[in-house]
Amino acid sequence: MAGYSFDMENYMTRESFTKIKEFASTKETPFLVTSLGVVARKYDELKESMPYANVYYAIKANPSVEVLKLLAARGSCFDIASVYELDLVLSLGIPPGRLSFGNTIKKACDIRYAYEKGVRFFATDAESDVRKLAKNAPGSDVFFRILTDGLGADWPLSRKFGARPGVIFQNILLARELGLNPRGVSFHVGSQQHDVTQWRGALATCRELFDAAGKKGITLDLVNMGGGFPAHYLSSVEETPVYAEAVTGYLREFFDSDFPRIIVEPGRYMVGDAGILVTEVVMISNKEGEGGVSWLYLDVGKFSGLIETLDESIKYPIYSEQTGDVRDYVIAGPTCDSLDILYEKTSCRLPSNLEEGDRLYFLTTGAYTQTYSSIFFNGFPPLKSYVIA
Ligand SMILES: *Cc1c(COP(=O)(O)O)cnc(C)c1O
Repeated sequence: MAGYSFDMENYMTRESFTKIKEFASTKETPFLVTSLGVVARKYDELKESMPYANVYYAIKANPSVEVLKLLAARGSCFDIASVYELDLVLSLGIPPGRLSFGNTIKKACDIRYAYEKGVRFFATDAESDVRKLAKNAPGSDVFFRILTDGLGADWPLSRKFGARPGVIFQNILLARELGLNPRGVSFHVGSQQHDVTQWRGALATCRELFDAAGKKGITLDLVNMGGGFPAHYLSSVEETPVYAEAVTGYLREFFDSDFPRIIVEPGRYMVGDAGILVTEVVMISNKEGEGGVSWLYLDVGKFSGLIETLDESIKYPIYSEQTGDVRDYVIAGPTCDSLDILYEKTSCRLPSNLEEGDRLYFLTTGAYTQTYSSIFFNGFPPLKSYVIA
């Protein structure tokens, strides 16, 4: 069982933490603080390690306006999942030429809306969607998403998205027949992917589809490698250059030095490390009596941004300023729903002298938190979100 003992210095410098803590001290919990400096560093690090790749930030991970503006200023493009995200980026003056409509599940009217706003770049994985695209976004560039199994990922995105290569091949032919412009192949190896070799199998399939399409006179020239690059949660991960080197090696293996246009769509990687979620202990209960594990109830839970603790998949480092002995706790949220337990199987070792009213800091919460929080479950408001330099 993973414990919750960790070294703060592995996650951020003392100075960064002190800065966030000072900012947080005047605010009422619970809330998320996202640090722009960290996002900038992550973007730069990725561009440095994979200079050939076009970055399309997956907005859904953290759609804070400040984050989007920062990335736009650095030259990032954006992967949008809905017309609402489309409106958001357009309202910031980001041109539609920098957008990819990456969701394969779309209503015809939403495709039409995006097309009217100037979007010409769409993901697809189904015949029905190809037909909707041909009708509502005629002539657009499309890329085709293949299935992956999500092995090695803490938060797999398998099964629901993508189709088998044979199906994709038929869709490529259909797209051309219907006047669309088949550009390439995409995949997502699963979010928080620990196993960098997962990119290899997907790239091998891309190569096969390039060759098969080529035989039909269709030149594919784009590979969208999706997301999957990790953030730093409790279990350790390889650093960006290690991922980049391996992936670049696979690209060379399948495409020699003549890379197609390469896209990456980092979400979690870009913003995960940049966030700290600040919460307060509401109640501590020794419900099992002597020798039992104490329950720690917080003012955040599964319904206020921590849904990725489902099945205890994502293990956030939790920091307390109390020092001294530690002991195991079960950690749960504040709502009247028994699903709202964050960690029960994972032993959470936190200071034994924790008291109600103490603050806890969930590190690495910049991705997939605030937007997941419910709007009024049990009357609790959505998680507040602040962005600092
Ligand atoms: C969610 C998503 C991403 C981002 O994935 P991460 O693992 O968070 O980097 C990228 N591309 C698509 C199509 C997605 O749906």
